Amino acid sequence: MIPLPNGIMLNTTGVIMDRRHFLSALTFGTIAMQLSGFKKITDELSTTDKMPAFFIGHGNPMNALYDNPFTQTLTRVGVALPKPRAALVISAHWLTSGTRVSVAPNPETIYDFGGFPPELSQVKYPAKGDPTAAEFVKSHITKTQVQTDAHMGLDHGAWTILKHLWPDAGIPVFQLSIDYTKSPQWHYELAQELNALRRKGILIIGSGNIVHNLGRLDFQNPNPATMDWALEFDTAVKTRIDNRKHSELISYENLGKAARLSVPTNDHYLPLLYTLGLQEKEEAATHIYEGFDLGSISMRCVKLG
Ligand code: ZN
Repeated sequence: MIPLPNGIMLNTTGVIMDRRHFLSALTFGTIAMQLSGFKKITDELSTTDKMPAFFIGHGNPMNALYDNPFTQTLTRVGVALPKPRAALVISAHWLTSGTRVSVAPNPETIYDFGGFPPELSQVKYPAKGDPTAAEFVKSHITKTQVQTDAHMGLDHGAWTILKHLWPDAGIPVFQLSIDYTKSPQWHYELAQELNALRRKGILIIGSGNIVHNLGRLDFQNPNPATMDWALEFDTAVKTRIDNRKHSELISYENLGKAARLSVPTNDHYLPLLYTLGLQEKEEAATHIYEGFDLGSISMRCVKLG
């Protein structure tokens, strides 16, 4: 530290501090090292055109193997995308206490389901991770202290859709967990902090389902009629996305009985709030796919940008 007039301190990295901040730096340790480390990370993520962002209704894990209108939509969308540096997936299937970001350089394909044909567990999605981008996310978020996770692979909320978006697994992928102890409002606000990543070449995908009540699925009928409450809630959400009523979507529990049946637990709904939190003022939200699976899983997918 070099003392300057009027109590200003100049530290060895050239950062000017007043006496109060100097004292807090002494208290909390290596602020200079943190600043230089942060600069290094930001330098490595160059600024790009704004990447689009998505909410994908992933539904049945078997979609990884299916050729149907939903997977064909993902394939078509993937072909038309600009090439991102990496994809960041916020999946309904990575729930943690606290927020984590995955930093594995070669994330494993995780088969986090049961009761499906063995060929589903033979699918591999060998995308690389992007530890540098993940560290950038950790350093960028101020709302909470993000922990890095070196062991997390790709859960099925990620790889079953990525397999269609980028079949060659050529885009690096990492994930951000959902802190199950936090409120919908908290998640929406965290998502707003993530928006800057879109200009660092990171394509963000929320992966869940707007209507997801496994207890109400009709497994006996291959083509069941869509249940009234599922259609009602999906339509209510679509209308509010179109009219940018984000506060009403954050307070989805106020949308009545259809909301309670459609979102019995909010793990699959919260990824939608991450996507909506990214939406910029003049940015359109396009419904790139809509429909229902097994009578009550909304497969609605939304694209920003
Ligand atoms: Zn799921």
